[in-house]
Amino acid sequence: MGHMNNARLIAATGRQRTRMGALPHFDEGLYELRADTYAWMVPNGSWGETNLGLIRCGDQSVLIDTCWDLHFMREMLVHSATVIERAPISHVINTHADGDHCWGNQLFADRVVTSTQASARQIHQHPPAQLRALQWGSKLFQRLPIGDVDALGRYMGDMLRPYRFGGVKVMAANQTFSGTATIEVNGVVLRLMEVGPAHTDGDCIVHVPERQVVYTGDILFVGVTPVAWAGPVSRIVSALEQVKALHSEVIVPGHGPLATLADVQSQIDYWDWLQSSLEPMARAGMPPEPASRHCLQSEGFKDSPFAAWIAPERLFTSACTLYREWGLDTGGLVGPLGALDHFRKQARLTSGLARSSV
Ligand SMILES: [Zn+2]
Repeated sequence: MGHMNNARLIAATGRQRTRMGALPHFDEGLYELRADTYAWMVPNGSWGETNLGLIRCGDQSVLIDTCWDLHFMREMLVHSATVIERAPISHVINTHADGDHCWGNQLFADRVVTSTQASARQIHQHPPAQLRALQWGSKLFQRLPIGDVDALGRYMGDMLRPYRFGGVKVMAANQTFSGTATIEVNGVVLRLMEVGPAHTDGDCIVHVPERQVVYTGDILFVGVTPVAWAGPVSRIVSALEQVKALHSEVIVPGHGPLATLADVQSQIDYWDWLQSSLEPMARAGMPPEPASRHCLQSEGFKDSPFAAWIAPERLFTSACTLYREWGLDTGGLVGPLGALDHFRKQARLTSGLARSSV
């Protein structure tokens, strides 16, 4: 699973623990993947542990995605100095509208920032103030052992603890496209392909044919459980097929180590398995939470490569997306409490998993 074999680490942060407090499976830092072609890789690919791309095109560079907060964004820029001092970043591309891929945009306000139209529309959906409120709320919830809000508090607290959302001003792309787009910088061609709605409303993947590299954003995770916020799931699978068909030598996922073709296939297998396991229970009227629990406790799951992936409980989010696709009621609350209720159920699934594995 995953590898960093052909990548050369040229600047490391030296962290001995991941942001989520785990032992890192690879070093955090800037890797040279091919000549003048880089990725900022963040172990192990959990919440906000997002990979970025950096492509030098003569005396300019293109940055693919920005960090969840300004602190981590500036850290990446400091460690990339050897590249960007000679070739300053002139273009930024956002693969999608999740905060951990675009909340550093404000540091590039005077550059060309490109995303799909759908991503630019979605970017203001969850403002930083909402996550700051959750950071405060999670501390409070941990003291309230009622209705599983303590589990919610721990879950959200762990997810958000490393990040500092103060000062983040969400900035949408100043150039948008639909379908496909080409960005050419000093003769280097980057091909942007819209594959959303899939993981989010407006995902795109970035292919650099002459460098034999593709940056997939969150269409692909490696060693980490994927998630379908928007769906349809079938479009995630088509996007993964598209990634395979590019026959690129290097595949940089949104989260986790560099991907092999087997990793891409594993993700396709996960979506196939999830849909076929879930659908009979969903059609029989079982709500998403117990159905998700059944999936995670099934022999099929335990015997699969997916069982080793980080954050298996994300299955619940994808399950709710599939229920909506199938025209079935998720039983979720609407309105401002909807997100809390959703993560409360997802958190409860984690504690269920922890108990069953002891
Ligand atoms: Zn992400």
